[in-house]
Amino acid sequence: MKKQDINRVVLIGTGAVGCSFAYSFINQGVAEELVLIDVNEKRAEGEAMDLNHGMPFAPAPVKVWNGKYEDCGLADLVVITAGLPQKPGETRLDLVAKNTAIFKQIIKSVMDSGFNGIFLIATNPVDILTYVTWKESGLPKEKVIGSGTTLDSARFRYMLGEYFKVDTRNVHAAIIGEHGDTELPVWSRSTVGLESIETLLSKNPAFKQEDLDEIFVNVRDAAYHIIERKGATYYGIGMSLVRITKAILNNENSILPVSAYLEGQYGHKDVYIGVPAVINREGLREVVQIDLNKEEQAKFDHSVKVLKETMAPVL
Ligand code: NAD
Repeated sequence: MKKQDINRVVLIGTGAVGCSFAYSFINQGVAEELVLIDVNEKRAEGEAMDLNHGMPFAPAPVKVWNGKYEDCGLADLVVITAGLPQKPGETRLDLVAKNTAIFKQIIKSVMDSGFNGIFLIATNPVDILTYVTWKESGLPKEKVIGSGTTLDSARFRYMLGEYFKVDTRNVHAAIIGEHGDTELPVWSRSTVGLESIETLLSKNPAFKQEDLDEIFVNVRDAAYHIIERKGATYYGIGMSLVRITKAILNNENSILPVSAYLEGQYGHKDVYIGVPAVINREGLREVVQIDLNKEEQAKFDHSVKVLKETMAPVL
């Protein structure tokens, strides 16, 4: 199929996360076309109607329709948020078998359309489903990206901004590892403005390591806290997916903590996991390998181990 001059993004899964992505996408005028696909076709149709009715107030026109898998043939990017959501008390990894089965079927349908673009995965457990997508699609690893710890890092930056009373956008800090219970903060590389967090703590006794440790626990457990209150989390991830989408379509070379395939970086291979990576029009240009301290490296190794053990029965 001949590629068009305009950008087409296909969203598979028009549930809470998918629609938050779509709403944010339209409000930021990210690309010319947005195709909605869901196993519940009526729902996708209703969402397309509703989103289109807001178009007079959008910054740029976006053509939105409920489509078919054939529409993926001309797509630049396919974003997948389809699947079963996390239930109260359930870990992300509990979902693995159910969502792997759904994914195998979805990826086959997308690839049958002649798709040759980039996949962006958000469905949980995201690191494992990104691996499944890479395996099932046969696409190069650069073309398959998971949202990874982008949302966790955003939560981290927000909470640190609140604590230090500065704009969250001046906080440069990341969570890496599995998007889930074994993720870890990279304190040794975190800065607020141009100051390292370590220096900030030593300069001002009002700031304490215990508070920072508590912030990390709240970041790690944020999904549980939100699910307990409102049943699901979706706005933050919707905006995170738009951020990654823009980095891809605008060829930004932005560094984002996505789920990337490791081939020896950080001492590991054959796993998709959250690490900083340069994102552009080709997908994932390269994994950024930062020096971790001993404790961080040990936690990262543990995260990889847990992911690999969880993945083993389904792959
Ligand atoms: P939801 O139930 O609201 O939506 C899921 C949608 O997927 C539904 O509309 C359903 O009809 C559709 N679907 C199911 N099977 C399908 C198939 N075979 N083909 C096409 N569509 C299909 O769930 P949600 O709250 O939107 O969550 C979606 C996923 O996103 C979950 O796995 C959730 O855990 C995950 N999530 C990820 C992050 C992250 O940071 N990566 C954050 C929040 C949620």
